[in-house]
Amino acid sequence: MTSDSTEQARLQHAARRHLWMHFTRMAGYDDHEIPVISRGQGPYVWDSKGKRYLDGLSGLFVVQAGHGRQELADAAAKQAADLGYFPLWSYAHPSAIELAERLAAYAPGDINRVFFTTGGGEADESAWKLARQYFKVTGEPTRYKVISRDIAYHGTTMGALSITGLAGIKEPFEPLVPGSVRVPNTNLYRAPSFLDVSGDDGPARFGEWAADEIERAILREGPTSVAAVFLEPVQNSGGCFPPPPGYFARVREICDRYGVLLVSDEVICAFGRLGDWFGARRYGYQPDLITIAKGMTSGYAPIGAMLASDRLMEPFLQNTTTFLHGITFAGHPVSAAVALANLDIFEREALNAHVRENEDAFRATLSKLSDLPIVGDIRGDGFFYGIELVKDKTSKTTFDADESERLLRGFLSGALFEAGLVCRADDRGDPVIQLAPPLVCEQEQFDEIEQILRAVLTEAWSKV
Ligand code: PLP
Repeated sequence: MTSDSTEQARLQHAARRHLWMHFTRMAGYDDHEIPVISRGQGPYVWDSKGKRYLDGLSGLFVVQAGHGRQELADAAAKQAADLGYFPLWSYAHPSAIELAERLAAYAPGDINRVFFTTGGGEADESAWKLARQYFKVTGEPTRYKVISRDIAYHGTTMGALSITGLAGIKEPFEPLVPGSVRVPNTNLYRAPSFLDVSGDDGPARFGEWAADEIERAILREGPTSVAAVFLEPVQNSGGCFPPPPGYFARVREICDRYGVLLVSDEVICAFGRLGDWFGARRYGYQPDLITIAKGMTSGYAPIGAMLASDRLMEPFLQNTTTFLHGITFAGHPVSAAVALANLDIFEREALNAHVRENEDAFRATLSKLSDLPIVGDIRGDGFFYGIELVKDKTSKTTFDADESERLLRGFLSGALFEAGLVCRADDRGDPVIQLAPPLVCEQEQFDEIEQILRAVLTEAWSKV
């Protein structure tokens, strides 16, 4: 064995013996190797054996500016040398201050206050806790419930998991935090059959119904018991559900009517994924709280945040009132410095504009796949798409649990990776392929994605 292959074997052995991968069936690696990704450049990554892959998921909806950015590494090194760590518990440090100021400038309306976390789930957890405490200190202590959508993912900590709408990943940890209520999501392709969604105004009618379902949930629960509604601009889990026309305007009206806070979970959708700093800006609605993480540093260091409106901050500026919540590593100086450098790249390279200028081309390229019998729906916005797979296009019949298991886990995930594309074959709702490439991608990468998907999905169809 060469020294390189000895090192490969050592890594495989150590990974199998000691590494516990997340949301991963560890026994699935009993009979094949654990993929080890060791370097990246632009939209591509390489495994430890030197094979190249197109990163069609930006790691995990994270690496907006692409891999291998030396200036982000340099920003981390400089900050670590200047001040490696200091907490935000009653102190501040320059990177966190500057980052908060900059995020507030990008955020819509009166969202001017930034509470840092280390990731997205903690940001959602913080938002629910803030909503609860806010209502306690403003004389509405009965408001504690939260409304979110079917199949939506909001994180794994007990609060964020309770907000999550995926029964399968909640069940092992029940009972969860009480007071979390589900409403329908905006999957137009699977709109209920009693709704007429045909014609040009069909999507708007569907949006009206989906928004009104939030109102019905508030009324059912009792308006004075509901604290907040958590919605992603485009829901990821289930395979990219963009908001139908008029949806968010109506949700905003409903929230205002009943005094409920609107939380925009932008852990995926912020930082250019939809061609703007925030999804709320792209779709023109005003949240009370925004939660962010992933793309803020393009993944070069971990950080998240909850962004709050002036109105929500106001009681916490009075007397002894304190938000009784904190996280040791939140707003870590190294992560904050990397985030600032990442935002500099966004500005210099106009990444938001690049997404807006190229999103039609991305959509058009993916749309070519609709001639395949297995492709039921292609949906999304910006650089964020889901492709729903079906057994029968005309009837929209989906795969049953066994077929889905065989198709997605047994074939597609491995075959797409083998063919050189990192993306996600997911069946947390109906089976979908999820795509969210780095924002630096261009037609060359769109074509590469389409060609790999075409070949692998054609083979998948022959196995159905
Ligand atoms: N919210 C949304 C919409 C997400 O997609 C995720 C993660 O994928 C989270 C929250 C949780 O973020 P984290 O994994 O950083 O805790």
